[in-house]
Amino acid sequence: MSNNYIETEPTFKAMNGSIRIGRIFGIPIYINLSFLFILLLFVWVFSQGDEIFGVRIGFLNLDASAEVKYLFGGATAVIFFATILAHELAHSYVAIKYGVKIRHITLMIFGGVASMEEIPSKPGQELRMAAAGPLTSLVIGIISYLMMIVVGGLGSSSVGVEGIEILLGIIGFYNILLAGFNMLPAFPMDGGRVLRSFLSTRMSHVEATKKAVAVAKVMAIAMVAFGILVGFNPILIIIAIFVYIMAKDEERATVISANLEGVTVRQVMTDAVQVVHPDTSVQQLMDVMLATRMMGYPVVDNGLVGIVTLSDTKKVPKNETHLRRVRDIMTVDVVTITPELPATDAVKIMGQRSISRLPVVDFSGRLVGIVTKKDFLKMVQIIEARKVVPVWGQPGWDQFQYQQRPPPPPPPQV
Ligand SMILES: [Zn+2]
Repeated sequence: MSNNYIETEPTFKAMNGSIRIGRIFGIPIYINLSFLFILLLFVWVFSQGDEIFGVRIGFLNLDASAEVKYLFGGATAVIFFATILAHELAHSYVAIKYGVKIRHITLMIFGGVASMEEIPSKPGQELRMAAAGPLTSLVIGIISYLMMIVVGGLGSSSVGVEGIEILLGIIGFYNILLAGFNMLPAFPMDGGRVLRSFLSTRMSHVEATKKAVAVAKVMAIAMVAFGILVGFNPILIIIAIFVYIMAKDEERATVISANLEGVTVRQVMTDAVQVVHPDTSVQQLMDVMLATRMMGYPVVDNGLVGIVTLSDTKKVPKNETHLRRVRDIMTVDVVTITPELPATDAVKIMGQRSISRLPVVDFSGRLVGIVTKKDFLKMVQIIEARKVVPVWGQPGWDQFQYQQRPPPPPPPQV
């Protein structure tokens, strides 16, 4: 089980195929369909499990019928996933205290995922938020163990009491395992976040992220090696791949937001926008696409009325492109931004809504430009490339601060 927070541009979308089961601290709680599969797997694992390090982690040796074992296995699995939810709620509780909005918590195949608007970037805050989950699991684990010892001390021979004793042992064992596993320094798992916040106290946030990601990649490779060589463990291998992809995603997001600091949308946007009219036929639209080689266009009729992209044209059968109009296929519910918006906020909006193109409108609602995800990535590459490493006393060192900044914005053109 791993527990991760999804930041901007999630690789794994948590909302697809999920059912909402309730709300805690005002946070909607979802169950992913993949989770039901893992729940059944755990019912089976618990009902058939034997013992490890002298602690019973299954109901195999319980002197009862198979039905009773499965019943206990089922109850244990449900309680275990409630403790995973408690782990996620602990992260969320701390995050809410630091003013971070939690969109939802989803229980899925890898355990829990708390989806946050952003991760607190102050080292101390991230540390407390990341550590809260494993700490909660550890406390639940220790309490369960103590309760198991108390119940065992009753000396009862009834199947019910013995079953509860085993149940407490399983909950204790898996919660302590969960706490330990999550504290591995495999960013963006909890331990990796603790590592990054520790590194952030001695270097920049970007450098700390890059170092934590480098460690995470080594950990991921080690997990795959372990999962193949030391007893085949497909779940560990899947988690390793998940860690690798998520670590790279978050490294990229951190590099982008660090380099775009101080940049506004106006500096990145294309202001000579090719627009189309809603009454343009789909065939004409495709001719425009061929001529300008752009993938999407704002639709304008006395102001912005929609946006139309290459994928919208695919909804129209080939022999109807002359008959159908742009207004039939365009997206009308358009998210717009202003030229003064910080570039980092625009990237965040694109990530959260999974859109790659945003029209830019001024305060009066007039279209003044368009900006794509690619524009931001190009800007980041250029800013990275023109960064100057200052040498004390050498010509230009005193201009370092100036050189790091992007050029002043061009005058607005309409
Ligand atoms: Zn966690």
